[in-house]
Amino acid sequence: MSSAIPLSIGTTSTLTPVAAGKRVLLAEPRGYCAGVDRAVETVEKALEKHGAPIYVRKEIVHNRHVVETLRERGVIFVDETDEVPEGELVVFSAHGVSPAVHADAAERNLRTIDATCPLVTKVHQEAKRFARDDYDILLIGHEGHEEVEGTAGEAPEHVQLVDGPDAVDKITVRDESKVIWLSQTTLSVDETMETVARLREKFPALQDPPSDDICYATQNRQVAVKAMAPECDLVIVVGSRNSSNSVRLVEVALGAGAKAAHLVDYAREVDPAWLEGVRTVGITSGASVPEILVRGVLDMLAEHGFGEVQPVTTANETLVFALPRELRSSRR
Ligand code: SF4
Repeated sequence: MSSAIPLSIGTTSTLTPVAAGKRVLLAEPRGYCAGVDRAVETVEKALEKHGAPIYVRKEIVHNRHVVETLRERGVIFVDETDEVPEGELVVFSAHGVSPAVHADAAERNLRTIDATCPLVTKVHQEAKRFARDDYDILLIGHEGHEEVEGTAGEAPEHVQLVDGPDAVDKITVRDESKVIWLSQTTLSVDETMETVARLREKFPALQDPPSDDICYATQNRQVAVKAMAPECDLVIVVGSRNSSNSVRLVEVALGAGAKAAHLVDYAREVDPAWLEGVRTVGITSGASVPEILVRGVLDMLAEHGFGEVQPVTTANETLVFALPRELRSSRR
């Protein structure tokens, strides 16, 4: 796994404004993480191996372009396994599923491939382990998010959802000496730490997770956007509205000093009015966003005079996950 390394911007250690000109700062890392890459490749390989149609429960990753492209290739996206005909193949998305979903699929004789990100699986295992030891588990995350539903479903009788600092007041536990917090993988690091601080005020013996639950990709993208945001009149985050980590990047950019920040799925959604009076535009993308969509935004900006692009690099990522066992022989 990669880790954050000291800030470097392009080949220098300081930001260099282009004289009196317009410029783009391009965050690195951005876009696809190892878990998304694996999940998308899982569906592509399953299509090659088994032929269309194949079924995917929920969006394989939270990105409109990815979902629409796979749909055109013969993927049928469903909300629940009871929409999949008996005996057919269903892929579980990168966000993970609860044991109840696996049980439903088995009952309907569905063939399954699990594309859950291994870093989500790690949080599931933590939930199971601390439930076995009879802890109260305070799961910090967004209500209704698929990942949170999957993790909570591992131990519903032990898990309580904490959706942000303001939710802390209503939390009660059975034994204050056996309380641990876990989290969704794609949260804002700063907001999560605020929630943890509030929880710890209430439960001083609160235990931390054995390792970071907010994943390396979420953290690295937030660090990069924080590095460039103070220089930016505008930050454009490429990503979908239902992508938690993409939405967090907009919030982090604004919190770190960007004068404005917007989320767009496609270049055509960039409003030219946003560019009026702007000298520096920062660009980043969520962990489920293919680079082609960022290229589209860069091309659009170049047409508006923002041809100068400076990378802002805060980490190098090299992590790759193996495909699910059923598809391992066919990795490209
Ligand atoms: S954002 Fe993190 S947890 Fe989610 S798929 Fe990517 S690496 Fe896995």
